[in-house]
Amino acid sequence: AFILTTVYGQLISVYDYGRAAALILGGSTVAAMLVGFLYGRGKRVWCRHLCPVSGVFSLLARLAPVHYKVDEERWQANQGPHLPTPNCAPLIDIRRMQGNSDCHACGRCSGQRGAVALSARSPNQEILIVGNPPQHGHWDSTLLLFGMIGLAMGAFQWTVSPWFITLKQTAAEWLVDRDIFWPLEANAPWWLLTHYPQANDAFSWLDGAAILSYIGASSLVIGGALWLLLRGAVRLMNRGDNLFHHLALTLTPLGGAGLFLGLSATTIKLLRYEGFILAWAQPTRALMLAGAVAWSLYLAWQVISRHGANGMRRLTAFACVGLGTAVVGYGWYLQFWGWS
Ligand code: SF4
Repeated sequence: AFILTTVYGQLISVYDYGRAAALILGGSTVAAMLVGFLYGRGKRVWCRHLCPVSGVFSLLARLAPVHYKVDEERWQANQGPHLPTPNCAPLIDIRRMQGNSDCHACGRCSGQRGAVALSARSPNQEILIVGNPPQHGHWDSTLLLFGMIGLAMGAFQWTVSPWFITLKQTAAEWLVDRDIFWPLEANAPWWLLTHYPQANDAFSWLDGAAILSYIGASSLVIGGALWLLLRGAVRLMNRGDNLFHHLALTLTPLGGAGLFLGLSATTIKLLRYEGFILAWAQPTRALMLAGAVAWSLYLAWQVISRHGANGMRRLTAFACVGLGTAVVGYGWYLQFWGWS
């Protein structure tokens, strides 16, 4: 669902036109209301099981500096009188809740049996401690490497990428040489491909195919490179899937920073159209990117050390993660500095 909404959003230019935003955001809101009305019974089944971005939020929530901490022993020892059972909308087994990833932090369970309290914690805690062994390892790693990092970078980048223009021009020449002209026509409806001729903005079928190819290639190349590098690190340490998924989670800060940089690029672009100079934007981006790389590297070093590697193996495994962060960092460098 995350992939579909992200790609569809790009095809209909969700950040640029109200109609497109209303369709995607309004459509998912109506779907959430319908699911809630038909199946919810007071619970947020949409948020827990169907929302396209709940996986992303669940990954990012692991970095939160506060969480609802549950003391299971106190919970069991507390004999009551008890508060009524809280209506936990995302259907969490509160007594056994260890991390923040599924919790919506609504506070309804606060104080329950004297065992649940909003508490401060290190933003690294959930990835370093609760994340081992990872709960939904396979899905979390796939979403993070191929979706939140690889796919998102392609989706944010194609509008400024010279590679995208080369891809499109090469394909157009190939088609014209063979007298195939229909893919060059911009006659798709606005809800399939961007179609605003009055604003001189209409995508041809070729544009649509090029966007799909670029975003797909970005997901596969960047996600695949990260996957291979992390697999290499795990192999060097003679460990299994648990370490792979744990190590993948250490790239969460980098994934989060990428989403923030990509989404705020639209805001900054619009503010510049309005005449704001925003000289601080580039240095802030650089700081944010460098900070996220450093944070991910720190987490990776800690995870590698916790899994018992030392000496040369530790350094080489760490170098694999370092190379992965460099690949992602270079992608963002191209977008904000290299190509501008
Ligand atoms: S804070 Fe809300 S969402 Fe989180 S466990 Fe408690 S009741 Fe559930």
